[in-house]
Amino acid sequence: MRTKIVAGNWKMNMTFSDAEDLLVEIAENLEDLNLDGKEVIVCPPTCFLELATDLADESRITVGAQNVSEHEKGAYTGEVAAMMLESMGVDFCILGHSERRAYYHENNKALATKVDKCLEHSITPIYCCGEVLEERENGKLYNVVKSQLEEALFHLSGDEVKNVVIAYEPVWAIGTGKTATPDQAQEMHAFIRKTLAEKYGEETANTISLLYGGSCNAKNAKELFGQKDVDGGLIGGASLKAEDFITIVKSL
Ligand code: PEP
Repeated sequence: MRTKIVAGNWKMNMTFSDAEDLLVEIAENLEDLNLDGKEVIVCPPTCFLELATDLADESRITVGAQNVSEHEKGAYTGEVAAMMLESMGVDFCILGHSERRAYYHENNKALATKVDKCLEHSITPIYCCGEVLEERENGKLYNVVKSQLEEALFHLSGDEVKNVVIAYEPVWAIGTGKTATPDQAQEMHAFIRKTLAEKYGEETANTISLLYGGSCNAKNAKELFGQKDVDGGLIGGASLKAEDFITIVKSL
């Protein structure tokens, strides 16, 4: 059975007290839910990670970071190392989000190193892939996603790749209100699983959780999560309101 996951990507939002309020509200609302086989992850900005890991100790929340350095440690001002995240009790890390690819020029090669750093420090990467609108319209979407998988993940062994979560996030759907249809999401998730199966075998491919991300919200989550190969979601905007986020968790 694959783990069903909802992960909230807060991006660069919230003050300290907003973050505290949101975390407490999410934690309280999770108390009465049956979360067997499910994981609820919050990914706040780095400066609020400790708030989240403190609360995670006594709640059903699991904590993820939004980025990590490709270096182990040393003179890299402003960066945060995987060993630091590990030492704080952070269990997941979003890697390769389209905003980091677009604004911080992260490429698949650098992301492969970040994936390794996370795994060396027992952090599960949530590896993001997805095409821009032009690539979809030109029919290049499958090639793009395949390269993103091959170049950043396929150096891993079968045992290692089982410790990765993949988020399919079509770039044209992120923060735009234009959600992929359930059929579009399922088509790409099935393709990702097939690509994983060709490289690692079906048994391994069937253990990897695949999340959909891109304007997923309290209204459309249930139908998206109902697709055969969609194991949950990576949620941006809708993760900033406890009520919406909890409704999305309940849609798993
Ligand atoms: C994201 O940034 O990962 C995301 C999916 O954003 P949104 O849900 O706001 O489209």
